[in-house]
Amino acid sequence: AHLDRIDAVDGAINAFLHVNADEALRVAAEVDRARAGAETLHPLAGVPIAVKDLIVTRGQPTTAGSKILEGWQSPYDATVVSKLRAARMPLLGKTNLDEFAMGSSTEHSAYGPTRNPWDLDRIPGGSGGGSAAAVAAFEAPLALGTDTGGSIRQPGAVTGTVGVKPTYGGVSRYGAIAMASSLDQIGPVSRTVLDSALLHEVIGGHDPQDSTSLTDPVGALVEAARRGEVEGMRIGVIKELQGEGYQAGVLTRFQEALELLRSAGAEIVEVSCPNFRYALGAYYLIMPSEASSNLAKYDGVRFGLRVVPDGAPTIERVMGATRAAGFGDEVKRRIILGTYALSAGYYDAYYGSAQQVRTLIQRDFAAAFEQADVLISPTAPTTAFKLGEKLGDPLAMYLNDVATIPANLAGIPGLSVPGGLADEDGLPVGIQFLAPARQDARLYRVGAVLE
Ligand code: GLN
Repeated sequence: AHLDRIDAVDGAINAFLHVNADEALRVAAEVDRARAGAETLHPLAGVPIAVKDLIVTRGQPTTAGSKILEGWQSPYDATVVSKLRAARMPLLGKTNLDEFAMGSSTEHSAYGPTRNPWDLDRIPGGSGGGSAAAVAAFEAPLALGTDTGGSIRQPGAVTGTVGVKPTYGGVSRYGAIAMASSLDQIGPVSRTVLDSALLHEVIGGHDPQDSTSLTDPVGALVEAARRGEVEGMRIGVIKELQGEGYQAGVLTRFQEALELLRSAGAEIVEVSCPNFRYALGAYYLIMPSEASSNLAKYDGVRFGLRVVPDGAPTIERVMGATRAAGFGDEVKRRIILGTYALSAGYYDAYYGSAQQVRTLIQRDFAAAFEQADVLISPTAPTTAFKLGEKLGDPLAMYLNDVATIPANLAGIPGLSVPGGLADEDGLPVGIQFLAPARQDARLYRVGAVLE
């Protein structure tokens, strides 16, 4: 049914870069046979899933949304993909994204933009717009995303789906193509909070292949989602993440969410995180710095595309020609920003200061969590904007991430849950919950109340 749905609607939406029909059908048939044979199966066995094309899969292409990896296939599976296979979940295919996950609209994909199923003239968020659109358009019941600065949560918000960024280290990054390694995290995309909890329990847990992987068990997330209660919980409204720059219809739904939580027994308190005003600036130095290092391996020799220019094919000339042709404008912009921020003479002023801001943001969160069990904000300042609207203005594009970035800088978990439709445009609004590190279960417990 999902493959038929992809056939019917994906020409218009472009959520998928690759559809893995034969293998998905084979796995589904195996699960049917196993079920008929009364074998004990995982609860998600046979439930198909789409995978963001930043996560490597054996036997399918992985492009990271870039021409530089066109035609490349990984010789191994990411740990999360091995876990999906072990649970016998059919892999439907690979979803579209901004090139190397750099963007907030999926317009920076080298393979054309994904469109928002709610309005095909609008963006589905980014960078994981393909995963969110696939789930919103019923092409897949579940998907995997990656969240470095909001790429699971913001697409969730603007497509009316649930998106979760787990605690840093809670889900293995082995096999997720690195963007900014100290910020990247793989997480679930779904239509309900319970579905995300089920998927999170499949993909989470310790992995010796990822040196930043936590050793804690993944936790009782499904139980928390089933329980869904806020009675007696303190929910902190982050003062700095509302007001100026936020669309009126987003703020109306946000206030309604607070009322609903209050009526369900939560205590709503206000918290202040004064250093959040520097978060965007710090992120857009740290993230490009790490990316400029991570992307150095695309040299025209080791992976994918190789362009050999006329004349002497020296390594420098091959590398230059390959990168010129293989990387898009946004990726080049960030490599230049990152190498500049890391260069001798500027390192302390830019990268060093950004790391200090990161510490201040962690302290803001620590203080806020003294006063509240979970924090709440709108996930994104606006509903889905029109395709092309912010493409020529990188700063306007970066401003979409203002509410999602602090969680990545601090390594804490976040969940975006649909909060209804904005009055002025009838488009989905996302509500974000944040919890202290390793307290992902709290997000599911609270998120399920709002759903
Ligand atoms: N929109 C943010 C950026 O462009 C976040 C990206 C992400 O989370 N992968 O960097």
